[in-house]
Amino acid sequence: MSKTLFEKIVAREIPAQIVFEDDLVLAFHDIHPAAPTHVLIVPKKPIARIGEATADDQKLLGHLLLKAAEVAKKLDLQNGYRLVINNGAAGGETVPHLHVHILGGHHLTWPPG
Ligand code: 5GP
Repeated sequence: MSKTLFEKIVAREIPAQIVFEDDLVLAFHDIHPAAPTHVLIVPKKPIARIGEATADDQKLLGHLLLKAAEVAKKLDLQNGYRLVINNGAAGGETVPHLHVHILGGHHLTWPPG
């Protein structure tokens, strides 16, 4: 199977501005930021989307969220931030490799579109 876009970023085949990495996840700046700070954090394991994660991924998903919060702290988003997971076309998903958007740096409106 061919690699997903984010697997290619993990493998350093496509450049990205990386802000955090460990054995299980990678965080990097979004190429088209939707907020002053917009970072994506992805599991290195290519789970297509949250709706396709299984019980086997439970530990990894917990790790992903805890690291997202750690990255937000590292990015000085102490005034607040938003974590977003888009699932499927109608949910706004464009890259079929699970990723959490970390958005912040200004006041985020609610509800989203
Ligand atoms: P989705 O729409 O699937 O929830 O989010 C995919 C995100 O990936 C989008 O915000 C988009 O800007 C970002 N993106 C797409 N291609 C690239 C790329 O090559 N590099 C980086 N850093 N981000 C990308």
